[in-house]
Amino acid sequence: MMPPRGGVLVLICISLAWLKLKGKNKKWRKGEKKRLHGTSIYDEAVEGNPPHDQEFPFVRLEEIALATKNFSETCMIGHGGFGKVYKGILAGQEVAVKRLSRDSQQGTKEFRNEVILIAKLQHRNLVRLLGCCDERDEKLLIYEYLPNKSLDATLFDESRKLLLDWTTRFSMIKGIARGLLYLHQDSRFTIIHRDLKAANVLLDEDMKPKIADFGMARIFNDNQQDANTQRVVGTYGYMAPEYAMEGVFSTKSDVYSFGVLLLEVVTGIRRNSNSRIMGFPSLTVYSWNMWKEEKTEELPDSCIVDTCSPGEVLLCVHVALLCVQENPDDRPLMSSVVFILENGSTTLPAPKRPAYFARQSAEMEQIRNAIQTSADSFTLTEIEGR
Ligand code: ATP
Repeated sequence: MMPPRGGVLVLICISLAWLKLKGKNKKWRKGEKKRLHGTSIYDEAVEGNPPHDQEFPFVRLEEIALATKNFSETCMIGHGGFGKVYKGILAGQEVAVKRLSRDSQQGTKEFRNEVILIAKLQHRNLVRLLGCCDERDEKLLIYEYLPNKSLDATLFDESRKLLLDWTTRFSMIKGIARGLLYLHQDSRFTIIHRDLKAANVLLDEDMKPKIADFGMARIFNDNQQDANTQRVVGTYGYMAPEYAMEGVFSTKSDVYSFGVLLLEVVTGIRRNSNSRIMGFPSLTVYSWNMWKEEKTEELPDSCIVDTCSPGEVLLCVHVALLCVQENPDDRPLMSSVVFILENGSTTLPAPKRPAYFARQSAEMEQIRNAIQTSADSFTLTEIEGR
Protein backbone atom coordinates (compact mmCIF):
# COMPACT_ATOMS: atom_id res chain seq x y z
CA MET A 1 0.00 0.00 0.00
CA MET A 2 1.36 3.42 -1.00
CA PRO A 3 1.97 5.87 1.95
CA PRO A 4 -0.08 9.09 1.81
CA ARG A 5 1.65 12.14 0.19
CA GLY A 6 2.03 13.91 3.60
CA GLY A 7 3.77 10.81 4.99
CA VAL A 8 6.34 10.80 2.13
CA LEU A 9 7.13 14.44 2.85
CA VAL A 10 7.67 13.72 6.56
CA LEU A 11 9.96 10.76 5.68
CA ILE A 12 12.08 12.92 3.33
CA CYS A 13 12.40 15.63 6.01
CA ILE A 14 13.49 13.10 8.64
CA SER A 15 16.10 11.58 6.25
CA LEU A 16 17.51 15.01 5.37
CA ALA A 17 17.74 16.00 9.04
CA TRP A 18 19.47 12.70 9.83
CA LEU A 19 22.00 13.12 7.01
CA LYS A 20 22.83 16.66 8.18
CA LEU A 21 23.32 15.51 11.76
CA LYS A 22 25.59 12.69 10.58
CA GLY A 23 27.70 15.17 8.60
CA LYS A 24 28.07 17.45 11.62
CA ASN A 25 29.02 14.52 13.78
CA LYS A 26 31.71 13.44 11.33
CA LYS A 27 33.13 16.97 11.26
CA TRP A 28 33.11 17.09 15.06
CA ARG A 29 34.90 13.76 15.30
CA LYS A 30 37.51 15.01 12.84
CA GLY A 31 37.97 18.10 15.02
CA GLU A 32 38.35 15.97 18.11
CA LYS A 33 41.02 13.88 16.39
CA LYS A 34 42.81 17.06 15.40
CA ARG A 35 42.64 18.36 18.96
CA LEU A 36 44.03 15.12 20.35
CA HIS A 37 46.80 15.18 17.79
CA GLY A 38 47.35 18.84 18.58
CA THR A 39 48.08 18.23 22.22
CA SER A 40 50.54 15.55 21.33
CA ILE A 41 53.89 16.00 19.63
CA TYR A 42 52.83 18.60 17.07
CA ASP A 43 50.98 21.10 19.18
CA GLU A 44 48.24 23.38 17.85
CA ALA A 45 48.37 27.12 18.26
CA VAL A 46 45.98 28.08 20.99
CA GLU A 47 45.91 31.24 22.98
CA GLY A 48 48.51 31.26 25.71
CA ASN A 49 50.61 28.58 24.03
CA PRO A 50 53.83 29.16 22.11
CA PRO A 51 53.36 30.41 18.54
CA HIS A 52 53.36 27.61 16.05
CA ASP A 53 53.54 27.17 12.32
CA GLN A 54 53.01 23.93 10.46
CA GLU A 55 56.71 23.08 10.56
CA PHE A 56 57.38 24.14 14.11
CA PRO A 57 57.09 21.02 16.26
CA PHE A 58 56.32 22.50 19.68
CA VAL A 59 55.39 20.23 22.56
CA ARG A 60 53.68 21.47 25.71
CA LEU A 61 55.80 21.58 28.84
CA GLU A 62 53.16 19.74 30.86
CA GLU A 63 53.24 16.88 28.34
CA ILE A 64 57.02 16.57 28.62
CA ALA A 65 56.86 16.76 32.42
CA LEU A 66 54.30 13.95 32.34
CA ALA A 67 56.46 11.86 29.97
CA THR A 68 59.55 12.20 32.17
CA LYS A 69 57.78 11.81 35.54
CA ASN A 70 58.41 15.47 36.18
CA PHE A 71 62.07 15.22 35.15
CA SER A 72 62.74 12.59 37.79
CA GLU A 73 66.18 11.12 38.41
CA THR A 74 64.86 7.68 37.45
CA CYS A 75 64.21 8.92 33.90
CA MET A 76 67.59 10.61 33.57
CA ILE A 77 69.86 8.88 31.03
CA GLY A 78 72.69 11.35 30.64
CA HIS A 79 74.23 14.65 31.53
CA GLY A 80 76.10 16.80 29.02
CA GLY A 81 77.64 20.23 28.94
CA PHE A 82 74.28 21.88 28.25
CA GLY A 83 72.01 20.06 30.64
CA LYS A 84 70.43 16.76 31.58
CA VAL A 85 68.92 14.18 29.23
CA TYR A 86 65.78 12.20 30.15
CA LYS A 87 64.04 9.24 28.60
CA GLY A 88 60.29 9.49 28.15
CA ILE A 89 57.37 8.33 26.06
CA LEU A 90 55.53 10.92 24.00
CA ALA A 91 52.62 10.04 21.73
CA GLY A 92 53.55 6.36 22.14
CA GLN A 93 57.13 6.88 21.00
CA GLU A 94 60.31 6.57 23.09
CA VAL A 95 62.11 9.90 23.11
CA ALA A 96 65.16 11.53 24.67
CA VAL A 97 64.49 14.94 26.17
CA LYS A 98 67.40 17.33 26.55
CA ARG A 99 66.65 19.94 29.17
CA LEU A 100 68.98 22.88 28.56
CA SER A 101 70.28 24.35 31.76
CA ARG A 102 68.81 27.74 32.67
CA ASP A 103 72.11 29.54 32.26
CA SER A 104 72.32 28.32 28.65
CA GLN A 105 73.52 31.28 26.58
CA GLN A 106 71.08 30.84 23.75
CA GLY A 107 68.25 33.32 23.40
CA THR A 108 64.70 32.25 22.60
CA LYS A 109 64.78 33.56 19.04
CA GLU A 110 68.10 31.85 18.27
CA PHE A 111 66.84 28.65 19.87
CA ARG A 112 63.67 28.65 17.76
CA ASN A 113 65.49 29.41 14.52
CA GLU A 114 67.94 26.63 15.14
CA VAL A 115 65.23 24.16 16.00
CA ILE A 116 63.25 24.96 12.86
CA LEU A 117 66.32 24.41 10.70
CA ILE A 118 67.55 21.29 12.42
CA ALA A 119 64.11 19.70 12.52
CA LYS A 120 64.18 19.79 8.72
CA LEU A 121 67.34 17.71 8.51
CA GLN A 122 66.70 14.09 7.73
CA HIS A 123 69.41 11.51 7.27
CA ARG A 124 69.80 7.98 8.57
CA ASN A 125 73.07 8.94 10.24
CA LEU A 126 71.76 11.98 12.09
CA VAL A 127 69.75 11.83 15.30
CA ARG A 128 66.28 13.09 14.44
CA LEU A 129 65.01 16.11 16.31
CA LEU A 130 61.30 15.53 16.86
CA GLY A 131 60.26 18.64 18.69
CA CYS A 132 61.04 21.29 21.22
CA CYS A 133 59.56 23.40 23.95
CA ASP A 134 60.40 26.87 25.19
CA GLU A 135 57.70 27.62 27.69
CA ARG A 136 58.35 29.72 30.76
CA ASP A 137 62.07 29.46 31.62
CA GLU A 138 62.48 26.05 30.05
CA LYS A 139 64.23 25.15 26.80
CA LEU A 140 63.80 21.51 25.87
CA LEU A 141 64.78 19.49 22.83
CA ILE A 142 63.10 16.21 21.96
CA TYR A 143 65.07 13.64 19.98
CA GLU A 144 64.43 10.12 18.80
CA TYR A 145 65.65 7.73 21.52
CA LEU A 146 68.70 5.60 20.74
CA PRO A 147 69.11 2.56 22.99
CA ASN A 148 72.80 1.69 22.58
CA LYS A 149 74.47 4.65 24.30
CA SER A 150 77.14 6.79 22.71
CA LEU A 151 80.11 5.56 20.71
CA ASP A 152 82.32 6.97 23.46
CA ALA A 153 80.59 4.86 26.13
CA THR A 154 81.00 1.77 23.94
CA LEU A 155 84.40 2.16 22.34
CA PHE A 156 86.25 2.92 25.57
CA ASP A 157 84.51 0.41 27.80
CA GLU A 158 86.38 -2.88 28.22
CA SER A 159 83.33 -5.13 27.92
CA ARG A 160 81.10 -3.04 25.63
CA LYS A 161 83.87 -2.55 23.07
CA LEU A 162 83.57 -6.26 22.23
CA LEU A 163 80.27 -5.39 20.56
CA LEU A 164 82.28 -3.52 17.98
CA ASP A 165 83.99 -5.99 15.66
CA TRP A 166 85.89 -4.67 12.66
CA THR A 167 82.97 -4.99 10.23
CA THR A 168 80.78 -2.97 12.60
CA ARG A 169 83.50 -0.37 13.12
CA PHE A 170 84.18 0.03 9.41
CA SER A 171 80.53 0.44 8.53
CA MET A 172 80.18 2.82 11.48
CA ILE A 173 83.01 4.99 10.14
CA LYS A 174 81.32 5.10 6.74
CA GLY A 175 77.97 5.97 8.31
CA ILE A 176 79.45 8.87 10.31
CA ALA A 177 81.21 10.09 7.15
CA ARG A 178 77.93 10.02 5.21
CA GLY A 179 76.12 11.90 7.99
CA LEU A 180 78.80 14.58 7.98
CA LEU A 181 78.74 14.80 4.18
CA TYR A 182 75.00 15.39 4.36
CA LEU A 183 75.53 18.26 6.81
CA HIS A 184 78.30 19.81 4.70
CA GLN A 185 77.04 19.35 1.17
CA ASP A 186 73.86 17.40 0.69
CA SER A 187 71.31 19.14 2.90
CA ARG A 188 69.66 22.44 1.97
CA PHE A 189 72.30 24.37 3.90
CA THR A 190 75.98 24.04 4.68
CA ILE A 191 76.08 23.00 8.30
CA ILE A 192 79.25 22.86 10.34
CA HIS A 193 78.82 20.67 13.39
CA ARG A 194 81.78 22.12 15.36
CA ASP A 195 81.69 19.42 18.08
CA LEU A 196 82.01 16.07 16.34
CA LYS A 197 83.36 13.50 18.81
CA ALA A 198 82.72 9.95 19.98
CA ALA A 199 80.40 11.23 22.74
CA ASN A 200 78.25 12.91 20.07
CA VAL A 201 77.73 9.76 18.03
CA LEU A 202 74.84 7.67 19.34
CA LEU A 203 74.17 4.05 18.44
CA ASP A 204 70.80 2.66 17.42
CA GLU A 205 69.47 -0.84 18.12
CA ASP A 206 71.59 -2.26 15.25
CA MET A 207 74.72 -0.35 16.39
CA LYS A 208 74.31 2.02 13.46
CA PRO A 209 75.78 5.46 14.21
CA LYS A 210 73.86 8.71 14.34
CA ILE A 211 75.51 12.08 14.78
CA ALA A 212 73.92 14.01 17.65
CA ASP A 213 74.15 17.32 19.44
CA PHE A 214 73.80 20.18 17.02
CA GLY A 215 73.79 22.76 19.79
CA MET A 216 77.04 24.19 18.49
CA ALA A 217 76.30 23.79 14.80
CA ARG A 218 76.51 26.80 12.51
CA ILE A 219 74.60 27.19 9.31
CA PHE A 220 76.24 28.80 6.29
CA ASN A 221 75.00 30.22 3.02
CA ASP A 222 76.12 28.45 -0.14
CA ASN A 223 78.94 30.84 -0.99
CA GLN A 224 80.41 31.17 2.51
CA GLN A 225 83.60 29.17 2.97
CA ASP A 226 84.57 29.81 6.58
CA ALA A 227 83.81 32.01 9.57
CA ASN A 228 85.43 33.43 12.62
CA THR A 229 84.17 33.35 16.16
CA GLN A 230 85.16 34.89 19.46
CA ARG A 231 83.49 31.99 21.20
CA VAL A 232 85.40 28.80 20.54
CA VAL A 233 83.23 25.87 21.45
CA GLY A 234 84.23 22.28 21.03
CA THR A 235 86.29 19.60 22.61
CA TYR A 236 90.01 19.73 23.10
CA GLY A 237 91.80 17.11 21.06
CA TYR A 238 89.09 17.04 18.38
CA MET A 239 89.41 20.72 17.52
CA ALA A 240 91.34 21.72 14.41
CA PRO A 241 94.30 23.97 15.28
CA GLU A 242 93.06 26.98 13.26
CA TYR A 243 89.79 26.81 15.17
CA ALA A 244 91.26 26.24 18.64
CA MET A 245 93.81 29.02 18.20
CA GLU A 246 92.21 31.58 15.91
CA GLY A 247 88.52 30.77 16.10
CA VAL A 248 88.36 30.10 12.33
CA PHE A 249 85.99 27.30 11.48
CA SER A 250 84.89 25.73 8.23
CA THR A 251 83.78 22.34 6.98
CA LYS A 252 87.49 21.46 7.12
CA SER A 253 87.52 21.85 10.90
CA ASP A 254 84.81 19.17 11.05
CA VAL A 255 86.96 17.05 8.70
CA TYR A 256 89.79 17.34 11.25
CA SER A 257 87.51 16.13 14.07
CA PHE A 258 86.34 13.27 11.85
CA GLY A 259 90.00 12.23 11.34
CA VAL A 260 90.59 12.10 15.10
CA LEU A 261 87.37 10.14 15.61
CA LEU A 262 88.37 7.68 12.88
CA LEU A 263 91.70 7.01 14.60
CA GLU A 264 89.87 6.40 17.88
CA VAL A 265 87.55 3.86 16.24
CA VAL A 266 90.45 1.95 14.68
CA THR A 267 92.75 1.99 17.73
CA GLY A 268 90.24 2.04 20.59
CA ILE A 269 92.48 4.69 22.18
CA ARG A 270 91.23 8.09 23.36
CA ARG A 271 92.60 11.01 21.39
CA ASN A 272 94.63 12.39 24.31
CA SER A 273 94.72 10.11 27.26
CA ASN A 274 96.16 11.71 30.37
CA SER A 275 99.12 9.41 30.13
CA ARG A 276 101.01 9.69 26.88
CA ILE A 277 100.17 7.22 24.14
CA MET A 278 103.11 4.85 23.74
CA GLY A 279 105.35 7.80 24.58
CA PHE A 280 103.67 10.12 22.07
CA PRO A 281 101.76 13.25 23.07
CA SER A 282 98.56 12.43 21.19
CA LEU A 283 96.80 9.78 19.18
CA THR A 284 97.36 11.67 15.91
CA VAL A 285 101.11 11.92 16.49
CA TYR A 286 101.33 8.28 17.53
CA SER A 287 99.34 7.13 14.47
CA TRP A 288 101.38 9.26 12.08
CA ASN A 289 104.59 7.78 13.46
CA MET A 290 103.29 4.25 13.09
CA TRP A 291 102.20 5.01 9.53
CA LYS A 292 105.59 6.52 8.69
CA GLU A 293 107.38 3.50 10.12
CA GLU A 294 105.06 1.23 8.11
CA LYS A 295 103.69 -0.34 11.27
CA THR A 296 100.04 0.51 10.61
CA GLU A 297 99.02 -3.13 11.16
CA GLU A 298 99.94 -2.65 14.85
CA LEU A 299 97.46 0.20 15.28
CA PRO A 300 94.08 -1.62 15.55
CA ASP A 301 92.46 -2.19 18.92
CA SER A 302 93.74 -5.47 20.41
CA CYS A 303 90.21 -6.96 20.43
CA ILE A 304 89.83 -6.62 16.64
CA VAL A 305 93.40 -7.21 15.56
CA ASP A 306 92.77 -10.86 14.60
CA THR A 307 89.61 -10.25 12.65
CA CYS A 308 90.17 -6.94 10.89
CA SER A 309 91.08 -6.52 7.27
CA PRO A 310 94.61 -5.03 7.03
CA GLY A 311 93.76 -3.34 3.73
CA GLU A 312 90.70 -1.60 5.19
CA VAL A 313 92.62 -0.59 8.32
CA LEU A 314 95.40 0.90 6.19
CA LEU A 315 92.83 2.80 4.13
CA CYS A 316 91.13 4.17 7.26
CA VAL A 317 94.39 5.26 8.88
CA HIS A 318 95.56 6.87 5.64
CA VAL A 319 92.27 8.80 5.28
CA ALA A 320 92.36 9.82 8.95
CA LEU A 321 95.89 11.18 8.62
CA LEU A 322 94.87 13.19 5.56
CA CYS A 323 92.00 14.65 7.60
CA VAL A 324 94.20 15.80 10.51
CA GLN A 325 96.79 17.65 8.41
CA GLU A 326 97.64 21.11 9.69
CA ASN A 327 96.63 23.09 6.61
CA PRO A 328 92.84 22.96 6.14
CA ASP A 329 93.32 23.14 2.35
CA ASP A 330 95.29 19.88 2.45
CA ARG A 331 92.43 18.07 4.17
CA PRO A 332 89.98 16.26 1.88
CA LEU A 333 86.32 17.23 1.56
CA MET A 334 83.84 14.79 3.10
CA SER A 335 82.66 13.87 -0.41
CA SER A 336 86.17 12.51 -1.16
CA VAL A 337 86.35 10.82 2.23
CA VAL A 338 83.07 8.99 1.62
CA PHE A 339 84.11 8.02 -1.90
CA ILE A 340 87.51 6.70 -0.79
CA LEU A 341 86.10 4.75 2.18
CA GLU A 342 83.45 3.17 -0.02
CA ASN A 343 85.54 2.46 -3.09
CA GLY A 344 89.13 2.31 -1.88
CA SER A 345 91.93 4.18 -3.62
CA THR A 346 95.41 3.48 -4.85
CA THR A 347 96.33 7.08 -5.55
CA LEU A 348 96.05 8.85 -2.21
CA PRO A 349 98.69 11.46 -1.46
CA ALA A 350 101.03 10.84 1.46
CA PRO A 351 99.74 12.68 4.54
CA LYS A 352 101.79 15.59 5.83
CA ARG A 353 102.70 15.75 9.50
CA PRO A 354 99.63 16.24 11.67
CA ALA A 355 99.01 19.63 13.23
CA TYR A 356 100.45 18.80 16.62
CA PHE A 357 103.99 18.60 15.23
CA ALA A 358 104.06 22.18 14.10
CA ARG A 359 103.46 23.48 17.62
CA GLN A 360 105.72 22.95 20.56
CA SER A 361 104.03 21.20 23.45
CA ALA A 362 104.73 24.16 25.74
CA GLU A 363 103.00 26.52 23.31
CA MET A 364 100.00 24.19 23.12
CA GLU A 365 99.92 24.04 26.89
CA GLN A 366 99.90 27.85 27.07
CA ILE A 367 97.05 28.04 24.59
CA ARG A 368 95.18 25.45 26.56
CA ASN A 369 95.61 27.40 29.76
CA ALA A 370 94.52 30.60 28.04
CA ILE A 371 91.40 28.86 26.82
CA GLN A 372 90.63 27.57 30.29
CA THR A 373 91.12 30.90 32.03
CA SER A 374 89.48 33.15 29.48
CA ALA A 375 85.92 32.01 30.00
CA ASP A 376 84.49 35.15 28.35
CA SER A 377 85.90 34.59 24.96
CA PHE A 378 86.34 30.86 24.88
CA THR A 379 84.02 28.08 25.86
CA LEU A 380 85.03 24.49 25.90
CA THR A 381 82.45 21.85 26.58
CA GLU A 382 85.21 19.51 27.63
CA ILE A 383 88.86 20.06 28.36
CA GLU A 384 89.98 16.56 29.24
CA GLY A 385 88.73 13.24 27.98
CA ARG A 386 86.01 11.78 30.14
P1 ATP B 1 78.35 17.69 25.66
O1 ATP B 1 76.98 18.24 25.68
O2 ATP B 1 79.24 18.28 26.67
O3 ATP B 1 78.93 17.69 24.28
P2 ATP B 1 77.39 14.99 25.60
O4 ATP B 1 77.33 14.99 24.12
O5 ATP B 1 77.81 13.71 26.27
O6 ATP B 1 78.31 16.17 26.13
P3 ATP B 1 74.53 15.23 25.71
O7 ATP B 1 74.36 15.40 24.24
O8 ATP B 1 73.74 16.15 26.56
O9 ATP B 1 75.99 15.41 26.20
O10 ATP B 1 74.16 13.74 26.06
C1 ATP B 1 74.45 13.18 27.31
C2 ATP B 1 74.13 11.70 27.27
O11 ATP B 1 72.72 11.52 27.16
C3 ATP B 1 74.71 10.96 26.06
O12 ATP B 1 76.02 10.56 26.27
C4 ATP B 1 73.76 9.79 25.92
O13 ATP B 1 74.14 8.75 26.82
C5 ATP B 1 72.43 10.38 26.38
N1 ATP B 1 71.64 10.79 25.21
C6 ATP B 1 71.64 11.99 24.59
N2 ATP B 1 70.81 12.00 23.55
C7 ATP B 1 70.26 10.76 23.48
C8 ATP B 1 69.32 10.11 22.59
N3 ATP B 1 68.78 10.76 21.56
N4 ATP B 1 69.01 8.83 22.84
C9 ATP B 1 69.57 8.16 23.87
N5 ATP B 1 70.44 8.70 24.74
C10 ATP B 1 70.79 9.98 24.55
